[in-house]
Amino acid sequence: MRPLIATHCGSGSDKKMRDVAEKSAAAGMKVLRRGGSALDAVEEAIVVLEDDPRTNTGIGARRRVDGTVQMDAALMDSRMNIGGVAAIMNVRNPIRVARLVMDSPHVLLAGDGAILFARQHGVPFFDPSNKESEEKWRDALAKIESGDVPEWAAKWRGFRFRDTVGAVALDKNGDFAAGSSTGGHPYMLPGRVGDSPIVGAGLYAGPRGAVIATGVGEEIIRVVLSKAVYDHIESKHTAMNACISGIKLFTDTVPVGVIAVDRKGWGECCNRDMAWAALPRR
Ligand code: ASP
Repeated sequence: MRPLIATHCGSGSDKKMRDVAEKSAAAGMKVLRRGGSALDAVEEAIVVLEDDPRTNTGIGARRRVDGTVQMDAALMDSRMNIGGVAAIMNVRNPIRVARLVMDSPHVLLAGDGAILFARQHGVPFFDPSNKESEEKWRDALAKIESGDVPEWAAKWRGFRFRDTVGAVALDKNGDFAAGSSTGGHPYMLPGRVGDSPIVGAGLYAGPRGAVIATGVGEEIIRVVLSKAVYDHIESKHTAMNACISGIKLFTDTVPVGVIAVDRKGWGECCNRDMAWAALPRR
């Protein structure tokens, strides 16, 4: 089987960030070329994205309305291995904790329990809040105050969604994996969990492919987007056509994007700009 990988920097991400998507895809492809699993490839690809301060997770994660940084991340493969963390704080790479959860009896840990679990497994304390996240947070608060918000965020009044990260891969044994990591968005209450760690919504992997979603988590959960796109792949659509069908489930006012791989190639579709990359190139 010819290995494949695709990565993205989030619905609404600046296309200038393509370099990090490419670096991430290259890191994942390195794992795949030496015979590693799609799961390992996706994890390594996501770490590269979490370690870039321009993405909205890991060292670049945004703050919530109360000023805290809480992140969601998850991994799933086509053997039905699943691991995720939700609203986790004070770790540098939430995807590493998600992988540890996969090896536990559970599939998803949240909040204080997730942090405790991370520490018990040797994951050190890391505070991702920095000057830049403070500036973005103050800007978000000012927009909430002034009512400067897009239609879809009317409940919050104010903000641009961007820079969540994700990756999907196929390995030489024919296994698929999907992974996501996010700092959410600036108009979130502490404790809010988006689609990113929710199987079927933010990610899905099965014997025919792997899918990752990005955009307004609440809307993505409502349509169970990643599973919907996967079902299209299963009923013989290409990964590209399946992604296009997935985005058609939303009105233009809802920022949303998706990437996918099947046995033959990768697909992507987003109703906003989205930095992404895939290997091998077509
Ligand atoms: N889907 C993520 C969330 O709702 C955000 C994003 O993809 O930009 O938390």
